Amino acid sequence: MEEKLITRLAEIVGDEYISLSPFERIKSALDPFPYDLSPEVLPFCTVLPGSKEEISEIMKLANELKVPVFVRGSGTVLTGASRPHEPGIVLLTRRLNRFWILEDHGYFEAEPGLRCAEMADELQKRGCFLPMWPGSKVVASLGGLVNNNTSAHTIDACAGKPGDYILGLEVVLPTGEIIETGTKGLRRIAGMDLSKFFIGGDGLLGIVTKIRMRLVPLFKVAYGIAVFDRLEPLAKGVQRMYLEKAPPPLFMEFMAKDVAEIAYRVKEMEPPPGPIVFFVGIGGDEEEARKKMERVMDAFRKEGPIEARQITDLEEWAKLWSAREVIASYLMDATGGKIVVAEVVSNLPQLAQCMREAEDFSQGLSVLSELHNYLFGHIGALTMHPTFFVPPEWPEDKRRQAVKECFQREAELNVKYGTCGGEWGQFGKRTPFFIKRYGETAYNLVRQIKRVFDPNNILNPGILEGKR
Ligand SMILES: Cc1cc2nc3c(=O)[nH]c(=O)nc-3n(C[C@H](O)[C@H](O)[C@H](O)COP(=O)(O)OP(=O)(O)OC[C@H]3O[C@@H](n4cnc5c(N)ncnc54)[C@H](O)[C@@H]3O)c2cc1C
Repeated sequence: MEEKLITRLAEIVGDEYISLSPFERIKSALDPFPYDLSPEVLPFCTVLPGSKEEISEIMKLANELKVPVFVRGSGTVLTGASRPHEPGIVLLTRRLNRFWILEDHGYFEAEPGLRCAEMADELQKRGCFLPMWPGSKVVASLGGLVNNNTSAHTIDACAGKPGDYILGLEVVLPTGEIIETGTKGLRRIAGMDLSKFFIGGDGLLGIVTKIRMRLVPLFKVAYGIAVFDRLEPLAKGVQRMYLEKAPPPLFMEFMAKDVAEIAYRVKEMEPPPGPIVFFVGIGGDEEEARKKMERVMDAFRKEGPIEARQITDLEEWAKLWSAREVIASYLMDATGGKIVVAEVVSNLPQLAQCMREAEDFSQGLSVLSELHNYLFGHIGALTMHPTFFVPPEWPEDKRRQAVKECFQREAELNVKYGTCGGEWGQFGKRTPFFIKRYGETAYNLVRQIKRVFDPNNILNPGILEGKR
C-alpha cells in the first residue's frame, strides 16, 4: 500500500514536492513539546501541494486508501495538534503563500502557508493592521492561526478575534470537495455561515486554502507602563479597568519580576523593581489614543503602583515590547530547557485569586514542581502563562509527565474559573478538559459534526480523540 500511495502522491504533486527523507519526516511530525517522536508514528512521507486542486486529489486518494492526512502550517501549536499519533501523510501548506490586497474591495485574500508576520508587514505598508499577533508570528502560518482563531497578544475586548474579520474562506473538505464560504462584500453573513466551522476548527473539518479578511485601517497608539511591588495589585488594576469601563487597550501584557529581569537584561535595560504591566491605547489620532491609555493608567494608579507612566520614548517601548514578544526564546536561552506552557484564563471577579494560583501552578505536581515557574501573559485578556523549561537531559518519561501535569493543572484551573483557553485550540491535549468543562453531550456533538465532514476520519485523526 505504501508504495502505491507514494507513486500516486508523486503523480499529483510532482516528484520534487514529495519527500521520503527521514529527516524531513521527523521534523514535520515534531512540535514544541519537549519529548521525542515515537518511531511507530513516523509519517510515510511529506507532501507540498501547490494548489487547492492538488489538495483535493490528495484527500480523495487518502480516502480511497484510508490513509490519514496531517495538515501542517509551521507546527508551532502548543496543544499537540500538529503531532501525528499514527503513520500517514504530512501535508505542508508552505507552498501556498500568495496574497492579494484588494484595497478597492476593502479586503485582502491570502493562502494559508503565508507567515503571519509577512502578511502583517505587507498590510502595514498599505496603512492596515492584521488583527492577530502571536509571539510566534515570524513563523506561524495564517492557516494555523485561523484554525486556532488565535488573536494572541491582542485583547479580545478591544479587537475581537481574527474570525470576526474573516469575510470568507475557500476550503477543501476531508473528502476532497472544494467549497467557498462567506461573502465578497464587507458585511458578514447573518445566520448560518459555514466559515464558522473552519474558523477555530482545530484542523478537524477541512483544509483552508484561502482566507478573505476585512482590511483594518491602522490607528494611532499611546503606550503606558505600571510597576508594582506584587502581582495582586496589578491584577486588581486590570479588574478596575473593566469595572470603571475604561476603553480596553489593544495590548496589555504583564511579566512577573523574575521574567522581567531576564527580558530587560537581554535588552540591556535596568530591570524594574517588581512585576510590570504595559499597555497600548489606540485612537483615530494621537490625542484620542493618549486619552484612552490614560484612563487605563488611572485604574492602575488607584492600586498604588511603584511607578505608572506614559512611555513616549519609542526606542524604550520597542525594546520592552520585543523583549516580551519573544520572551519564550529568551527564557529558553537562559535556562537551556524546552518549553512547557499553560494557558490559565480567569474570570473577571476572581482575577487576583486566579493570579495567585497561576503563581503556585506547580504546587503538588510531582514533576513540574521541580521546575521554576516563569509567569507572564496577556493580562488584559485575563490570560496567564505559567511557563516551565524542561532540561533536555531528563529521561523521556519524565519529559512526557511534565507536559501531562501541565495540561492537568491548566484544566483544573480553567474548570474552576469557568473559562477556557483563548489561544491554541480546544482539542489535542485539551480534549479531557473539553469533556470536563462542557460534558459528554457537547463532546459527542463535536464527534458527530466531525463524522459528517470526515466520514473516514482521514483529516488530522487523533486531535479530537485527545491522542496527541
Ligand atoms: C514560541 C511560541 C510562541 C507562541 N506564542 C503564541 C502567542 O503569543 N499567542 C498564541 O495564541 N499562540 C502562540 N503560540 C502558539 C500558536 O497557536 C501557534 O504559533 C499558531 O497558532 C499555529 O500556527 P502554525 O502555522 O504553527 O500551525 P500548526 O501548528 O502547523 O497547526 C495548528 C493546527 O492547525 C491545523 N492547520 C494548519 N494549517 C491548516 C489549514 N490550512 N487548514 C486546516 N487546518 C490547518 C493543523 O492541522 C493543526 O491542527 C506560540 C507558539 C510558540 C512555539
